[in-house]
Amino acid sequence: MALTGLEIFKLLPKTNCKKCGMPTCLAFAMQLAQKRAKLEDCPDVSEEAKKVLAAAAAPPMRKVVFGSGDNQVQVGQETVMFRHEEKFYNPTVLAVTVSDKLAGEELKKRIESVNSLQFERVGTRIAVNALAVMNDSGSAAQFAETCAKAKELSSLALILVSDSPEAVTAAIGKTADAVPLIAQATADTAEAMAKIAKENNCPLVAKADSIEALAELSEKIKSQGVEDIVLNLEAANLRDELYDFSRMRALSLKKAFRPLGYPTISFVTDSDVNQQAAIAASLICKYSSIVVVDTAQPYVLLPMLTIVMNIFSDPQKPVQVEPKVYPIGEPDANSPLMFTTNFSLTYYTVESDVEASRVPSYILVVDTEGTSVLTAYSGDKLNEKIVADAMAKYNAESLVKHRKLIIPGYVAVMSGKLEEATNWEVMVGPRESSMLPKYLQEFWK
Ligand code: SF4
Repeated sequence: MALTGLEIFKLLPKTNCKKCGMPTCLAFAMQLAQKRAKLEDCPDVSEEAKKVLAAAAAPPMRKVVFGSGDNQVQVGQETVMFRHEEKFYNPTVLAVTVSDKLAGEELKKRIESVNSLQFERVGTRIAVNALAVMNDSGSAAQFAETCAKAKELSSLALILVSDSPEAVTAAIGKTADAVPLIAQATADTAEAMAKIAKENNCPLVAKADSIEALAELSEKIKSQGVEDIVLNLEAANLRDELYDFSRMRALSLKKAFRPLGYPTISFVTDSDVNQQAAIAASLICKYSSIVVVDTAQPYVLLPMLTIVMNIFSDPQKPVQVEPKVYPIGEPDANSPLMFTTNFSLTYYTVESDVEASRVPSYILVVDTEGTSVLTAYSGDKLNEKIVADAMAKYNAESLVKHRKLIIPGYVAVMSGKLEEATNWEVMVGPRESSMLPKYLQEFWK
């Protein structure tokens, strides 16, 4: 938890020697509290004070990274209980199980089905990010083989799920370079699992059936030299899990209780896949950092991914599309060119209405900081200069032979100035984008 200026002042030498560039130690402490100065600027600060201040500056919840390359994932490092207080930072990682009882074609098919769980939603790619290999066979050799196959056939981040240190040792021998998450250590296996995690630089899951036992276990693992820990709380039911996750987050963020300051993992393996979707949805909202499900059905995964996308979007930033020219259909030099704003909802509404018109067209998306047409115009984020600049930037002149630009009906008022700024003929389109199909078919000749 951050220290106040006065608390920091108590840790300083209090000689007012000015070597830090401040007139007094108190002034320096105030600057430190506001993160406007660096502790290194005081040459006389004691080692003890350095330790206390460094610990206070550490984030209340640790960030944990696993996987490698483009599919490396990170979880944790959250700072608030509720999204509206600021935002949530690291989206919940969704993982799908692969049993080590599978072999040959069956195993290959399962891994490929998980790899293919990718979707596009409002212009953004959303996907399952991890494979959780389950040691269902109980055999160390079989587990190691399956983990090796998963690494070979998938670039997704790996989670090695086994309570057996022998099985994890065998599997890590074949996958350590992929930096898997090792799941999991219990009170009985903490030492052995921590040793494997430390030697291979991999994060480790700690599993216990109460908050108190989990705090004790994470401390034990940390004392073995493993810093990157993920917490798995075994709860009797979903209600208890949600309640305990909320308590854990409050204790780590509000009370800076370090033993619980780690991301969390949940295993959702209800035999009814629809139930898995409902349980996973609740856990994504509060507060599971990694959710492992055992279905690879796209219709079950898509809603989960949609929830992750929504919960982890920044509430202060509208969802935006990239400003540029989007061809709809196969437009040519005689096709209509129209503009809209980069607010996602606006763009996708216009896009689907243009598609429905069956008139191949170009849509120029103007950067209005993610605001809709009227909001942008009234806030001066949309005017003739901004549109003219966007036309120049995205080379509108090279796209079409004609010099006609269709503008949204709501900003008809800017047509005169826009004609002057661009030397193009401005055609005022309909106010509602739903009228675009009729408009394009009637007016675009
Ligand atoms: Fe105080 Fe250190 Fe600054 Fe000197 S250098 S005034 S001891 S904070």
